[in-house]
Amino acid sequence: MSKRLYFEDARAWEFSARTEKTKTDEKGTWLALDQTIFYPEGGGQPWDTGRLLQGNQEWRVVEVQADEDDVIWHRLDLSENASLPLLNQDIHGEIDWARRFDHMQQHTGEHILANCVHRLAQGFTHGLHIGHEVSSIDVTLPEGKTRLDEEMLASIEALANRCIQANHPIVCSFPTDEDLKKIPLRKEAGDFEHTRVCAMGDFEYVACGGTHLSATGEVGLVKILSVQPSKGKMRVFFLCGERATAHYAMEHKALSRAGELLSAKAEEVPERLEQTLKLLADARRELAALHRKNTLDKVPGLLENAHAYKDGRRLVIAELTENDLPAMEALAGRLTQESRLIALLCAVKEGRYNFLFARSNDLDTNLSDFLKSTLAKGGGRPEFARGAAEDSLPWEAAKVMAVHL
Ligand SMILES: [Zn+2]
Repeated sequence: MSKRLYFEDARAWEFSARTEKTKTDEKGTWLALDQTIFYPEGGGQPWDTGRLLQGNQEWRVVEVQADEDDVIWHRLDLSENASLPLLNQDIHGEIDWARRFDHMQQHTGEHILANCVHRLAQGFTHGLHIGHEVSSIDVTLPEGKTRLDEEMLASIEALANRCIQANHPIVCSFPTDEDLKKIPLRKEAGDFEHTRVCAMGDFEYVACGGTHLSATGEVGLVKILSVQPSKGKMRVFFLCGERATAHYAMEHKALSRAGELLSAKAEEVPERLEQTLKLLADARRELAALHRKNTLDKVPGLLENAHAYKDGRRLVIAELTENDLPAMEALAGRLTQESRLIALLCAVKEGRYNFLFARSNDLDTNLSDFLKSTLAKGGGRPEFARGAAEDSLPWEAAKVMAVHL
């Protein structure tokens, strides 16, 4: 069993200990000490990283895990220093404080958020997951609900931030069994020999073996990002502390830029954007109608220049522009209203050749087979086939072969 020094002082970032034993598994080599400030992965909080020093030797600690016997194992990066620490000797350790402080902000903030969800929505919080960027909790709500409305979420967030501003002192202790019974824990403690209680003033009491800040004010800010149903529960994604302030700065910058582009104040951006998108959709519709008209205006010229087969059939070959592409089908429809007519249409967009081969109903030419014979990808019905090619060869082949149709 390793003594967990972070229980006594979560703000300690360096310590000394005695090396006890090593082990090796598929992940690498692990070292156990008689005591440590390195937090092992647990309760949804990732492990601490840092370094260990012995004499003039140094090792990076890249992972920390506790085993079933409560021994805390430090996995060492041996890529730069392959020798192992001497056993039964003193060793000095330091954790990466920025990483730990970030985890403490997310973890402490989670307690506050879970407390507010419990107070205002009678939600029972299960697991915490501190992700690389975003953290989440899963909440069981009354009557099997998996969502809360925006107003309720805003109230929860506001209460959580008031708790932060109240700057309640945070004290963690191992009360006697007698004292434990008197503490109004937010949720039932697990089955431990000694229960550790984290108290935030008289606002929050919870059994927890994690690392906490000294006062709620150090959380700085809690921001709920979103909620979504997850296996009958409500999953709440949130940010605390530096992560929340960095997120605020990022969103402020993005929204300010959007406001500049739309000549609108931040709060007017959604409405202005909605209006702009509607204008854009109207303009797109008008443009499409215009392209369709322009494309169909080509019909008389195309018919005039049609190739005449000896048996009286006519062949229209047309290379269209990118703008004609949406109206290509309408053009094929108009042309094939003519009697005994075959239309081979091609429009190039972004280097891709798009084909539409169609014919009048009074013919029996199989244009689907013909399209495939050009080696273009596609197919369709005998009277109406579509295809595409990445180069011009199928189109060149179609133009040559069409006179023999
Ligand atoms: Zn905790």
